[in-house]
Amino acid sequence: MSREDRVELAEDMRRKGKSLGQIAEALRLSKQTVRCYFADPHGDKLRERKRRYAGECIDCGRPTDGTAGKGRAPERCSNCRQLFERERAGWTPELIESLALEWHGKFGRSPRASEWRTRRRLGELVDDPLRFPLTATVQDVFGSWNLMLSSAGLPCLRPGSYPRESASGTSTTLTAANAVTVSSSSSPRGETP
Ligand SMILES: [Zn+2]
Repeated sequence: MSREDRVELAEDMRRKGKSLGQIAEALRLSKQTVRCYFADPHGDKLRERKRRYAGECIDCGRPTDGTAGKGRAPERCSNCRQLFERERAGWTPELIESLALEWHGKFGRSPRASEWRTRRRLGELVDDPLRFPLTATVQDVFGSWNLMLSSAGLPCLRPGSYPRESASGTSTTLTAANAVTVSSSSSPRGETP
């Protein structure tokens, strides 16, 4: 039964002199819900609330559900949340770390999020999207990209800079704390600004 149908039934019962409690019981709704039906029979206020408090989906940018009120919109639209949860379920920390280690073995350096995104898109073209996790999945499992690298025992990435091909082999394994305190002026990598 749609909301419209329930509202019609509730109004019909009210015209027949039924009490709020009787209507609620008959329709198996809370009294508060029946009150809302009478105050907002066409759902205009509800729609307005959904629209006003909607957020923006962090994955696709479409509006998220604002029903829960101010500041309570979920991060993702329901479609993206389903995709994210399905995807997230397939990724264990060990699996992600092993991919990072494999990458390091192949390229001699830690992977960047953007590189995995690119690989993932390529994987989707050949219908193998699970080969690399979403950045959001890595963040969800480890807390951040660098925490994932550090958990795998790999050098962390500093924001805005990335080891070039120079001096490969001298790269040391840094903990997350060490890596972020290295200032760019004392960079040993000889990058010119
Ligand atoms: Zn979305």
